[in-house]
Amino acid sequence: MAHKLPDLKYAFNALEPHIDAMTMEIHHDKHHAAYVTNLNKAIEGTDAENLSLEDLMANISKYPMAVRNNGGGHYNHTLFWEILGPNGGAPSGKLADAINDAFGSLDSLKEQMNNAGATRFGSGWAWLIVQNGKLAVCSTPNQDNPLMDIAEVKGTPILGIDVWEHAYYLKYQNKRPDYLGAIWNVINWEEVAKRYEAAL
Ligand code: MN
Repeated sequence: MAHKLPDLKYAFNALEPHIDAMTMEIHHDKHHAAYVTNLNKAIEGTDAENLSLEDLMANISKYPMAVRNNGGGHYNHTLFWEILGPNGGAPSGKLADAINDAFGSLDSLKEQMNNAGATRFGSGWAWLIVQNGKLAVCSTPNQDNPLMDIAEVKGTPILGIDVWEHAYYLKYQNKRPDYLGAIWNVINWEEVAKRYEAAL
């Protein structure tokens, strides 16, 4: 079962001015595409070819580092494109209630996520996860994610923010916190809510 690069559901420039078109194009067409190509190469002829991406994450400790890095890269970016979108807005319904219960307010969630992203040394991701039915914030290095059996903090990711320099450097250069401030304008909360309900 070969993995495929998913199409973006919006134009490269749809997240302007918060995320620029060239960053989106290189990020999707080059970076994500390379993770998919290299994942397919790394699993070719092995039993990992028969696993869904989710099952691969859950058993990632059994596979070589190339599978972990590129499989994580494929999973993480597939989620990332889906939880971004041009319409922004704010969470509502059950998800909004759960955010208020867990963090006090949406602003406090953003602060915890931004802190997790800003303090992740080098490359990695900040995550909002569902863990035993509750929301929590964590971060992972490189292309790891909370679905992996090797993850320090495990859970089902419902929102992830890429803090690799390739996600923001063209527009924000070294100012990762500015990127983290801006990205909240382009979160697709409907998709996050869908993932929240599915994870419960
Ligand atoms: Mn990336």
